[in-house]
Parts: sequence; C-alpha cells; structure tokens
Amino acid sequence: MDMPIDPELAPFRAEVRAFLETQLPDDIRCAAERATSVFIDPAVSLPWQRILAARGWAAPDWPAEFGGPGWTDLQRYIFAAECAQAGAPNLAPMGLKMVAPVIMHYGTPAQRAHYLPRILSGEDYWCQGFSEPGAGSDLAALQLRAVAAGDDYILNGSKIWTTHAHFANRMFCLVRTSSEGRPQAGISFLLLDMRAPGISVEPIRTLAGDHELNQVFFDEVRVPQANRLGAENDGWSVAKHLLTFERGGKYAPGLIARLGRLRAQPCGDPVFRARIAREAIGLRALQALEMKAMRGQGGGAALYASVLKIVGTETAQRIDTLACDMAGVAAWAEADGQAPATLAVAVPRYLNDRAASIYAGSNEIQRDLVARQLLG
Ligand SMILES: Cc1cc2nc3c(=O)[nH]c(=O)nc-3n(C[C@H](O)[C@H](O)[C@H](O)COP(=O)(O)OP(=O)(O)OC[C@H]3O[C@@H](n4cnc5c(N)ncnc54)[C@H](O)[C@@H]3O)c2cc1C
Repeated sequence: MDMPIDPELAPFRAEVRAFLETQLPDDIRCAAERATSVFIDPAVSLPWQRILAARGWAAPDWPAEFGGPGWTDLQRYIFAAECAQAGAPNLAPMGLKMVAPVIMHYGTPAQRAHYLPRILSGEDYWCQGFSEPGAGSDLAALQLRAVAAGDDYILNGSKIWTTHAHFANRMFCLVRTSSEGRPQAGISFLLLDMRAPGISVEPIRTLAGDHELNQVFFDEVRVPQANRLGAENDGWSVAKHLLTFERGGKYAPGLIARLGRLRAQPCGDPVFRARIAREAIGLRALQALEMKAMRGQGGGAALYASVLKIVGTETAQRIDTLACDMAGVAAWAEADGQAPATLAVAVPRYLNDRAASIYAGSNEIQRDLVARQLLG
C-alpha cells in the first residue's frame, strides 16, 4: 500500500528507498522483525541510529541548526513510511523525540551544546522518570523530593515503569521542589546522570516476559542545579510541552507495514481477508488524519496528539488480535522456530501492546482531554 505522493517528491522517496536497500543490515532488520516489545533493545537500535547519523538522518524532526536534515513534514512522513516498509527498527524516542525538543526549547546554550550532539550520536541513552507508585494519570501528585543543598539538589524517592532505565546513562526527571500552592506549581525538571551514587534500578517483568520496565530508587542522590531545565518550580510547563511530542506522532506508517506483512501470509480465509481489508481502510483514514495534523488543519497539536494516540494504539491492538487469530497454533509454536516471524511474534506482541493504551497517558485520560478540548 504505497502512499500517494506528489510527483516532485518521488526522487526523494527513491533516494530513501535506495539508502535503505543498501544500508540497512540484514541482521538489524531480522532482529527488528523478531522484536516483541515497544522499544527495541539499544543493541539493535543504536547501530542503526549510528548508520542514520552518518547520513544525517538520525533525527528527521530536528531543525537543521541542531543537526536535523531540514526536511519538510511530508518528507519526514515519507521517510517514516519507507523505514517501516523496509523493516528498520524504531529508534528509542526518549532522547531523540522527547527530551531533545524540550532541551531545544528550554535549554541554556550550554545545555543544548552538551546534550544535543550526544543524543544524535547515541552516546547518551535516555529514560523518562515521570511516573511514581502514587502518580501516574495524576502525575502532579509526584513526590520524589529534591531539596536544594548548595549548588546541588538532593533527591530521595522513586520512579516506576521507567522504560529502559537499565540501559540508560541519562534520565529526564520530574521532581518535587516545593509543596506550596497547587501540586503542579512545585515541580522541577532535571536532567540527571544514571550513574550518580545512590541510584538503583530494579527490573519489572511484563506479562509478555520482557524486561523493558523498571523501578528506579533514589537515595540521597546529588544532582547539580545546573542540570535543571527551565526555572525552578516550572517543570510542569516543560513536561506538558514534552508530552505533546510523546503522544503525537506517526502511527500509520508502522501499522501499514505490519498489516502488509500479515496480508502477505498464505491465508485464503475470506473472514481474515475481510478483517485485513477493514483495517487497511481504517489505516488510510488514520494516515489522512496524520497528514491533516501535520498541516495543522482542523485542530491544535494537543488535540491531535490525543486523538492520534487513541486511534493509533487501538488500531495496533486490533491488528495484534488479528495476527494472533491468523497465527493460531503457529503463534504458540514460536519455540520450535518454524513459524514465519510475523506470526511467531504475534502472541508476545499482543501481550506487549496491551500497554499501548496505558503508557504516554492512558486512553481514558486522552478521551477526557479530547472531550474537554472539543466540548469544553
Ligand atoms: C509499558 C509501559 C511503559 C511505560 N514507560 C514509562 C516511562 O518510561 N516513564 C514513565 O514515567 N512512565 C512510564 N509508564 C507509566 C505510564 O505513564 C502510566 O502507567 C500511566 O500514566 C498510567 O498511570 P498508572 O499506571 O499509575 O495508572 P492509574 O493512573 O492508577 O490509572 C489506572 C486506571 O484508571 C484510569 N483512570 C485514572 N484516572 C482517570 C480519570 N481521571 N478518568 C478516567 N479514567 C482514569 C486509567 O485510565 C487506568 O485505566 C509506562 C507504562 C507502561 C504500561
């Protein structure tokens, strides 16, 4: 299902396709195809990021002044679609797509000069320290304390559900610097070194058996105040800016590629063919919505971010169910290595994707946000 594009963009698409054909190594593509979790391990994604960085394409969304390729929105969309079709692994978003835009927006010149090149090259690998045991949907209830001590803060408390904290050498983190006034008014945004004394990372195994998630404990951890992004007690503004980038996005390119792989399976059952066709039509609509969002037509960025998150994740979950139904016994026979990759990973992907409607703000909360924005 090739995306219809203007003829003047055809050479660009051909250039990207040629690059992917020659530069995407088979072992990386195969590992990506077999991956079952939301974020692929850095052992797979970082070598690919380095290949892209060498071509200047690791951060398609970044402005050219910070090392982006200077593409238009449509070029970025085509690039995402071609990468998905070629089976390239997704790059971890925590550095490139989440903290980088807020460093560009709120960072001092010194912070930008230090962090951005290291994010681009993959030298720094980031995790997101927002949620706590008592603060998920109600994020403003967070309690991890940061008490000023000379030029530092001293942190005590814990973060939970921290994706890839066991790989990360950096965390962007929301901390409580004041208990005065509204809960949102006493939060600050810190950039911290995961190797600082007093930080410990405990694994959390998911239903699918993956180790993606962690709980991170802070015991008298010193973080320089110079590592704060934005003003003290103004971290909520930084976090809200960041969450738009976390939720917004391009769901259709990856899902279209996944559905295409399912369609390629030798299955003539008309019921499955009809379900595939229904999802394909829905994905065309999602693609059109993402295009409208890119052009800023019909709504603000925050509204689109919520709507696309709901539609994208729920479509993914339906495609997971379809893959499991099609895989049948083959999906459960993964251990013998006989099932084609698309079907062999159906069940672990199904399990893993249950979380898609929870993370980045649960879909119930997104529906609430949409209702408030549309209906007041
Ligand atoms: C796979 C995965 C990866 C994650 N990665 C990270 C990460 O890297 N960093 C990080 O900081 N966090 C991460 N999270 C945490 C995620 O952001 C939270 O799980 C999410 O915000 C929900 O919070 P909670 O789990 O505390 O659930 P709760 O907030 O306790 O919600 C429980 C249920 O109640 C519903 N609910 C709550 N409030 C309302 C309301 N007002 N109206 C309607 N329904 C409501 C929710 O939708 C949900 O169904 C991750 C979560 C998962 C599952």
